Amino acid sequence: MLQKTHSFAGLLAAEGAVLYMQNSPFSWESAAALLIGCLAGPLADIDKQGSTMAKIFFPLSALLRLIKVRHRTMTHSILFIAALGMLFSSLPPLLYWSFLLAYASHPLIDLFNEQGVELCWPVKIKFRLLPKFAAIDTGSVSETLFRYILALFTLLLPAHYVWNHLIHAV
Ligand SMILES: [Zn+2]
Repeated sequence: MLQKTHSFAGLLAAEGAVLYMQNSPFSWESAAALLIGCLAGPLADIDKQGSTMAKIFFPLSALLRLIKVRHRTMTHSILFIAALGMLFSSLPPLLYWSFLLAYASHPLIDLFNEQGVELCWPVKIKFRLLPKFAAIDTGSVSETLFRYILALFTLLLPAHYVWNHLIHAV
């Protein structure tokens, strides 16, 4: 999937964390959590040469290349997510869960892709959720449609909250 699709998925995951964990979601901490979500969503593609994340985190992506980490393997695995979970456990809870859920949204939606994901890396089994004919190819029309659906949900989720807690309560 493209970086912008992953950013929408990461944003949606962070919105979920904010609305679930914060009594009042209109705070600087919530804004930081949403920003973290947008950035953590595409982060796993640091393993893909030429991707924006690989460029931003150049020394790290070069290291991954050096130790021959292939695309959609280590950085897209459950083991790696668990390791990140331990590494960042000292973050404030909202930022922590926004980061972790947004990061995890990446391999989750990559499962819709035709190539599949090595979720259980280092075990070399590729998982994918859709049969080949229905899979969402990177940059395809179906990905654009999928991104619009994600974008719609990133609007609906806060709108639903505002409706329930602010307008409805009056
Ligand atoms: Zn990916």
